[in-house]
Amino acid sequence: MQFRPALAAMKPYTPGEQPPPGKFIKLNTNENPFPPPPAVVSAITAAASGPLNRYPDPMATSFRRAAADALGLPGPEWILAGNGSDEILTILVRGFVGEGQSLRLPYPSYILYRTLADIQGASWEQVPFIDNWQLPASFGESREDLRLVLLPNPNSPSGTIVPPQQVSELADSLDCPLVIDEAYVDFAEENCLELVKQNERVLVTRTLSKSYGLAGLRFGFLVAQPHVVAELTKIKDSYNCDMISIAAATAAMHSQDWLAEKVAVLNVTRQRLADELAEMGFDVVPSHANFVWCTHPSGQHKAIYEFLKRSQILVRYMEFPDWGDGLRISVGTDEQIDACLLMIRRFLDQL
Ligand code: PMP
Repeated sequence: MQFRPALAAMKPYTPGEQPPPGKFIKLNTNENPFPPPPAVVSAITAAASGPLNRYPDPMATSFRRAAADALGLPGPEWILAGNGSDEILTILVRGFVGEGQSLRLPYPSYILYRTLADIQGASWEQVPFIDNWQLPASFGESREDLRLVLLPNPNSPSGTIVPPQQVSELADSLDCPLVIDEAYVDFAEENCLELVKQNERVLVTRTLSKSYGLAGLRFGFLVAQPHVVAELTKIKDSYNCDMISIAAATAAMHSQDWLAEKVAVLNVTRQRLADELAEMGFDVVPSHANFVWCTHPSGQHKAIYEFLKRSQILVRYMEFPDWGDGLRISVGTDEQIDACLLMIRRFLDQL
């Protein structure tokens, strides 16, 4: 069988472990530990008795209206809905980066971008963060074949944020579009939506998987100037969001009070998690997301991950070649975090 040559050299993106529900305290893929807003559950029930024999609205208009409203955007034409923000990222890479061209990402960050470049037969350039997760000036340098720059903001795994003013300068210095992947931005104090209005080359992606508690549903979206949305609409799947997801995501956008309340609770727990890890001797990066990145002077990160897993607690052990390793721990409920901290303490006591 003849696959495209690009596939031979490709490494698939491997997401975090997803065991069957119930067995583990799951702190490994930055999901919301709380179930989604009640209005979402009602909307799903209502949609399930709707006309499922019919195709959904290809443009997810009800969702786009609700999202534009919630985010203070001029109208739905500033939004493109997708099957998770991963699909939106796929559309962006497909739309801007072809064979022989390249995209840029910071390192360590979201490795999926590399896979998306590989699929296109394109190349990728990783620019390492410097000085505690700052972007070096070279991240903003233009190059002939560079067609897209992607920046998770807040970044994963660090949870650090590049302030909008600096993002704006970065966008000005680049010739190509700059994607700000705001998957975790609801847990931060600032975002880059205003920049989208000022600069057609700033493209923001968002997801409902994290702050809205809807990872199981698959819904994400792009915020960009209307002519950019119109152009990218040409390459999306015809019916990329299903009727039930559209109804649920629309209800989620109408649940801004729920969102604010849950984010506030999780951010308090995040601070406690960070403080207690620091007390145990961990180096904890100050986080603006719903997870923390930490390293311990013992270097026993993999052993801690394995010990926790044996205790039915899943965190993410991450190893970045030429960089180092560490643990990324998602912010769960207070009880979940207490259980995790207790077992980490127990592990460290044995050393
Ligand atoms: N961007 C970043 C930085 C992420 O960590 C994730 C979650 N793995 C995503 C995008 C994708 O989120 P989703 O496809 O669930 O919307």
